[in-house]
Amino acid sequence: MHEMSIALSIVDAVEAKAREEGAGRISGVDLLIGKLAGIEPESLKFCFSSASKGTLAEDAVLAIDEPEGIGECGECGMRFPVTFYYAECPECRSLRIKIVSGEEFLIQSITIEEEGE
Ligand SMILES: [Zn+2]
Repeated sequence: MHEMSIALSIVDAVEAKAREEGAGRISGVDLLIGKLAGIEPESLKFCFSSASKGTLAEDAVLAIDEPEGIGECGECGMRFPVTFYYAECPECRSLRIKIVSGEEFLIQSITIEEEGE
């Protein structure tokens, strides 16, 4: 499953970071996942809870920000919301659309706790 491999790579990345900082555990992970990124947030949360079992991120709460998809017309420059890739400009009907927002996928920040609290 797509989301499972993503969840595993998030766990790897945040664990590496937490170890670097000498953290005892990770209590929160903030993610940015654009609506066009092709990742299902609910499914990712579910996969994350099983992927993080036995790791420093086991009890981490995932907070997911989902920027809307925004396209920009290559003909008239109009910007408008898009919900899928093959969008058409509402102004001039051009199909030369560039996606300017909504494809993001990154770990924004993690919250770590000191060891032995
Ligand atoms: Zn246009």
